[in-house]
Amino acid sequence: MKLAMLGGPRTVPAPDARTAWPVVTDADRDAILRVLASEKFTSNCMGEGEVGGLEHEWARHVGVRNCAAVSNGTAALSLSLAALRIPAGSEVVVPALSFIATALAVVRQLAVPVFVDVDPVTFNLDPDAVAAAITPRTSAIIAVHLHGLPAEMHELRELADRHGSHLVEDAAQAQGASYRGRKTGALGTIAGFSLNVTKNLPTCGEGGLVTTDDGELHERVLKLRQFGEVIKGDEERTYISHLLGSNEKINAIQAAFARTQLARFDEYCAAREQNVRRLLDRLAELPGVVVPTCPTDRTHAWHILRFRFSPEAMGHEGVPAGALRKILHRALRAEGVPVSQYQLVPLPGQETFRTREGVASGYPWKLPMARDLSYRVEDYPVALDVIEDSLTLQKRHLNPQSGAILDDYANGFEKVWENIDFLAGLARTLPYDPPWAKTLAAASA
Ligand SMILES: *Cc1c(COP(=O)(O)O)cnc(C)c1O
Repeated sequence: MKLAMLGGPRTVPAPDARTAWPVVTDADRDAILRVLASEKFTSNCMGEGEVGGLEHEWARHVGVRNCAAVSNGTAALSLSLAALRIPAGSEVVVPALSFIATALAVVRQLAVPVFVDVDPVTFNLDPDAVAAAITPRTSAIIAVHLHGLPAEMHELRELADRHGSHLVEDAAQAQGASYRGRKTGALGTIAGFSLNVTKNLPTCGEGGLVTTDDGELHERVLKLRQFGEVIKGDEERTYISHLLGSNEKINAIQAAFARTQLARFDEYCAAREQNVRRLLDRLAELPGVVVPTCPTDRTHAWHILRFRFSPEAMGHEGVPAGALRKILHRALRAEGVPVSQYQLVPLPGQETFRTREGVASGYPWKLPMARDLSYRVEDYPVALDVIEDSLTLQKRHLNPQSGAILDDYANGFEKVWENIDFLAGLARTLPYDPPWAKTLAAASA
């Protein structure tokens, strides 16, 4: 069949309500109306119950003693590092492939991010590379469970313990996933989650959660989100600030919406597991498509599905992987398969880190006790390869009703693969710049 890109029929019908995210039901609407009727809108409002309810329910879901709800996932990470009292000028290991927020939280704490390359199959921190990057200055390792797959927590825990550093989880993309029988959020010293509307456990906007078994850390997070104050639900506010907090509260509407989403969360995860597995099984049959996998000792939250493409395995050795990815992007989108790129540059290539403007013009890097690190993307060959040769599916597969549409997506892939020799030929001749070219040009301009 003629490719849609060349004027043939499109495989996937127009966007469909069964791929909408988040799913909003009457239960969510009622929850918001309940808050409006209560007139208690913030977590420091006397008698407010939604925020505490969410914290209690999420702690139970994860299997930890404490949970604090905060304004967003970035704040969850920042407050986690602040609660740990990560020293200024110390070093924090961060994966080179992640969302920018992971590394911003480190700089906000005036610590130096040390980027480490990822594993080409799991896309998570490579423990050997972490071992090589640890120095006497390392105060913490942030394990990002990228795309929903828990990181190599056993190896990372050993490294962290051996060097006396903290192990922090960035679980923003991995709600509900587990590792050796324990949920994400219960695998490190402290963990940050995001409730952003795009994540697997969404609120109707912005929110975040911090989980920890450590009662003292939890108390510090509660103060940090509330100007350093202690708020007791049934007592008058004292306005005494005990430590350098800021205002990182979640509001009651966001909390109430997240709670009704949480009530349906396990059911959605189970449907997603089935829908996604069926899609991956079909795509794995196509030559040169490397589908995401999940080691047998963990479960995957399938937040983002990342597909790598190998010209060699397609029988097209010598075709540049990036050019092939670019032409596949066009061909698949024309068929109605909404693939996209996620991250166009490893984090150390972001202008933020290349210029090292940082906090107050040049900190933490200017601190006398800090190592004067500079960042080059060439030092992260695996992250570069992954960005170069892969495309992702985001959000559409999160809806539990998306199964039939994912079948259509698989049909779209199969049709494109019937024409793969033609497309590989095009890729050979196409003018091509790597995805990070623009970012790096902006930084040196
Ligand atoms: C989304 C995300 C964050 C930040 O969460 P926000 O709620 O958007 O601030 C942090 N880390 C990772 C890996 C994320 O995907």
